[in-house]
Amino acid sequence: MKGYAEWMERLIEALTKFPAIGRRSAERIVFYLLKTRREEVQELAALLKAVKENVHFCSLCHNFADHETCHICSDPGRDRGMICVVEDPKDVLAIEKTGTYVGVYHVLLGALSALDGIGPGEIQIADLLKRVKEGKVREVILATNPNTEGETTALYLAKMLKSLHVKITRIARGIPVGSNIEFIDQATLSRSLEGRLPA
Ligand SMILES: [Zn+2]
Repeated sequence: MKGYAEWMERLIEALTKFPAIGRRSAERIVFYLLKTRREEVQELAALLKAVKENVHFCSLCHNFADHETCHICSDPGRDRGMICVVEDPKDVLAIEKTGTYVGVYHVLLGALSALDGIGPGEIQIADLLKRVKEGKVREVILATNPNTEGETTALYLAKMLKSLHVKITRIARGIPVGSNIEFIDQATLSRSLEGRLPA
């Protein structure tokens, strides 16, 4: 049964494809859009298009970026001798919120998982090794999630980086096993970065 006008139904259906948006939420968004001023809806439509066209991955660290490199890689105040390796751009945000880390990042865009068929070629490992090989990196901090995939990835990276004469550390202290970096509170994450151990 189709309840609303055809255009409304089409938009509701499109919105329900979004993460965490069910039919009821999609309906509420459509009602809101119909009530809102035309200019505001036009601006939203333009933003949707702009985000898709202008945001891409940083050519150095694979974080989200508006330009060739992200705002962290382009910041001259950051310590390029320290690379913190994370799985997801959301983890960069979590660590940035602690306000204690001054190095740069490397976003793997995933983690190794035999179960899901994700091997070293499927995530951004080759680029990390290249960055370390180019020199000037003193320390690589492995900040992958403390779950099976994250640990497997950290072990693999530690093995690959071993011959490159760089200090390798793993964040550890206080992070509950099986948890996710993006959901850890700032104080715990900060302590765990400070208390990192040789990997
Ligand atoms: Zn970057």
